[in-house]
Amino acid sequence: MTRPDPTTNTHPDDALAGIEVTAAFERFRQRNDIFTRAFWDSRVRTEKTDRFFASYRIEAAPRRSDGFQQRDFALRNAAWLVSDILSSRSADEGLREGFQAPIRSDTEVARDQVPVDDPSRMSDEIKRIARFFGADLCGITRFDERWQYATRVDTRDMSEAPNDLPEGICNVIVLGHQMDAALVATYPSALAGAATGREYSHEAAIVMQLAAYIRNLGYEAIASMNDTGLAIPYALQAGLGEYARNQMVITPAFGPRLRFSKIYTNLPLHHDRPRKLGVAEFCAICTKCADACPVKALPYGPPMADHKNVSAIRGVRKWTSDAERCFGFWASMASDCAICMRVCPFNRDVTRLRHRLWRRLALSPLRKLALWLDRGRGQRVKPADWWQEQP
Ligand code: SF4
Ligand code: SF4
Repeated sequence: MTRPDPTTNTHPDDALAGIEVTAAFERFRQRNDIFTRAFWDSRVRTEKTDRFFASYRIEAAPRRSDGFQQRDFALRNAAWLVSDILSSRSADEGLREGFQAPIRSDTEVARDQVPVDDPSRMSDEIKRIARFFGADLCGITRFDERWQYATRVDTRDMSEAPNDLPEGICNVIVLGHQMDAALVATYPSALAGAATGREYSHEAAIVMQLAAYIRNLGYEAIASMNDTGLAIPYALQAGLGEYARNQMVITPAFGPRLRFSKIYTNLPLHHDRPRKLGVAEFCAICTKCADACPVKALPYGPPMADHKNVSAIRGVRKWTSDAERCFGFWASMASDCAICMRVCPFNRDVTRLRHRLWRRLALSPLRKLALWLDRGRGQRVKPADWWQEQP
C-alpha cells in the first residue's frame, strides 16, 4: 500500500482520481465546516441560521408556500429521525455521532479473528454484505491521512478535540446511498429535504451494521458519516465516480444524486482504483449548476487552488463553492438546497436505454451535442404535484 509522499502530500493515484494537491495544502479542521461555524462564528451565525436548525423540531418549522407547509416539514423531519436519535445520544460527552464524531461501536471486536487469505475475495464479500444492508454503491480504498480532519469538534463548547482512530486502520470502505429522484426534482423545498434526511437515517443503520459485521469477524471497524474525514476524496479514490463543478461526485449509476458514508477498518482488503470517466471534460463546457444557483455560490471557469473562505480545504485545486453564500440560502429557506444536483444533466435514470445512450454521448468527444440535447431538462417539479401522485 503506497502512502502520499509526506514532503509533497501527493500520491501516484491522484491524477487518476482527479485530485491535485498544491504546496499550500493543509488538512481541514472540522471546526471550519460551515455547519459547525454556524454555532461559533459570528460571521456565519445569524437569526436565520438559528431558525434553520430549530426548524428540525416541527413546532419551530415555519409555514409558508408550496413545499414549505406543515406536511413538508413533517415528512422531512420524520425522515431525519433515526439519524437525529443517533447523533444526539452522546451529546453529554460532546460527541455528535455521525457528524462531529464517529459512530460509537455497539459491538466488541470478536476475540477470534477469521483469517483472510485473499483480500480480493474479502472485498467482494464486503461489497455483497454492503448491498445486503442496503448500500447502493460500495468502493474500497486506502486510509489517507490527508482527508482526515486535523481535529474534530467537542460539541459542548465547539472547541477542537483530537480526531484519533485506533492504531492500524489501513482501509476505508466507501458507501453510496442514492437519494429519491422524485423528491430531488422538487428542490428547493422542505419536502425535498426528506430525500436528504432519509439517506442520513438509512446510511446510519447501514454503516453501523456493516461495521458490526466486520467487528464480529475479529477486525476493527469504525462507522462514519460526515465525521472524522472528507468522504468525497475517499469516494474518488475508491473509483465510485468523478468530481464535478457542483462539488459532487458524479457516479455512472446515479449521477450526482447520492450521499456517501464510510467505514474505517484494518480488515485486509483489495483496493479499487480511481476512474476517469470524462465528467471533468463535460463540466468544462457546462455551467448549468452555476447558472441555476440562486446565490451564485458555484464557480465558473476551470478548477482553482484558491479558497473562498475557511470552510474550503486549503491547497487542493478543484471547483469550490462559496459555502457561506450556499449555507446562507439554506438558512433563508429553513431547509437544505440541492438545485445544483437537480439541474445537473447527469441526474437521470440510466436504467432507461435513452439515458444510457445520452451518458455515453456526454462522456465522449461529442459532449457538446449531449449538452445541447439536455436543454430544458431539470425543471423543478412543484411539491404540490409530488403530493398529488398516486401510489
Ligand atoms: S446547494 Fe443550492 S445554494 Fe448551494 S451551491 Fe447548490 S444551488 Fe447553490
Ligand atoms: S451541471 Fe454541468 S457543470 Fe454542473 S456538475 Fe453537472 S455536468 Fe458539471
